[in-house]
Amino acid sequence: MELIHAKQALTENGWENNVVVETSDGRIISVISGVSPKCTQVDLLLPASANLHSHAFQRAMAGLTETRGPNPRDTFWSWRHLMYRFLDRLTPDHVEAIAALVFMEMLEAGHAAVAEFHYLHHAVGGAAYADPAEMATRIVSAAQATGIGLTLLPVLYMHGGCDGRVLQGGQQRFGCGIDRFNALHEASSKHLKRGPSDFKIGVAPHSLRAVDPNSLGSVISLSDGPIHMHLAEQEAEVTEVETHLGARPTEWLLDAHDVDPSWCLIHCTQMTSAETEALARTGAVVGLSPITESNLGDGIFNGTQFFSAGGRFGIGSDSNVHIALFEELCTLDYSQRLRDRSRAAMAVPSRSAGRVLFESATRGGAQALARDSGRIAPGALADLIGVETGNEWICDRRGDTALDSLIFGGRGRDCIRDVWSAGRHVVKEGRHQARESITLQFRNVLAELGQDI
Ligand code: ZN
Repeated sequence: MELIHAKQALTENGWENNVVVETSDGRIISVISGVSPKCTQVDLLLPASANLHSHAFQRAMAGLTETRGPNPRDTFWSWRHLMYRFLDRLTPDHVEAIAALVFMEMLEAGHAAVAEFHYLHHAVGGAAYADPAEMATRIVSAAQATGIGLTLLPVLYMHGGCDGRVLQGGQQRFGCGIDRFNALHEASSKHLKRGPSDFKIGVAPHSLRAVDPNSLGSVISLSDGPIHMHLAEQEAEVTEVETHLGARPTEWLLDAHDVDPSWCLIHCTQMTSAETEALARTGAVVGLSPITESNLGDGIFNGTQFFSAGGRFGIGSDSNVHIALFEELCTLDYSQRLRDRSRAAMAVPSRSAGRVLFESATRGGAQALARDSGRIAPGALADLIGVETGNEWICDRRGDTALDSLIFGGRGRDCIRDVWSAGRHVVKEGRHQARESITLQFRNVLAELGQDI
């Protein structure tokens, strides 16, 4: 059992002062007013976010892909080229060390859990490992080592485009037919059971480009967990899907499947107004990664329209180029402001932009991970962030203004002192408890991979 006292807390009922939160066996038992000397003391207590979209291994490429290739029109070139060369070198040991660093950084940034969109399944050339879920087990081990909550999403990746072209080069490490994927999913489920009870599994058909319509139908019936899929990220993808399936990606999916709250659709940066409204009505979560989407030049999500229509969204760190929850929310709002020449784009009369963004992301993230979290309320998982407000960045501000200062002031990460994931108190005084050993292993892996990728 643990008691946490907060001078202020964003509870399920809004802002409350002098709150004592009691946790036990990973869950919040009670939230009451008062003070207790035995408590862990925090200035500001927030529900922690669940990071709904990550490709952990891509973290090792951060900072290496900011050059242009020989064809100036191919702006995606340097990133994709490097990723495939990089893929030829990664071993299971490398993946585990990189994932541990990524998960540690997520926890330090205020994410108590992650949905790992896991598609690096096989050895070089697509050869099978003795255990088909060898790479998945490394993700599970990294999550256990760091204490982050995990929703593992094994990815079905069948071909290189809507025309069914075979996978080339580094892509072969992703590839599965349905039978191979079923075996992999089953083996992954077994590995997940050795983790704590908040570890879950779902399924991830990669995209409409990589999975044909029949296979999409069979894979979504494989798991009763969440279904995640990339959708409508780049203009070229929209054109390709339109050519082969006869409709735009979002339009096609909503027509072909009963999309409901168990779905999480990643990116959706290329939607018409009608698609935006229709997707909002389904109750599915849109998984946004505003920093990665900015980095890759994907486009701007129809955030204000989607939110006004009652749409649900959460935040992921995707390529993990920069793992920063508060900056993701800031970038999302700024993208709307730049497009519309407006201010406080997501604010509503009763709640500031930061409050709307933060509460939407924590609730949407929890839904996307099928995780009973995202709120400070009895019965919920104890996914919590303790924030220091007695500093020059927050200046003891309260309520929405404190949250806005964290999100828009640029130093929010520095104010995070404590993070709990299902009651596991893994970040203290702003640092993950195993930071030194995890960082050392990651540095060794990067040195082994070399600079000449
Ligand atoms: Zn992705």
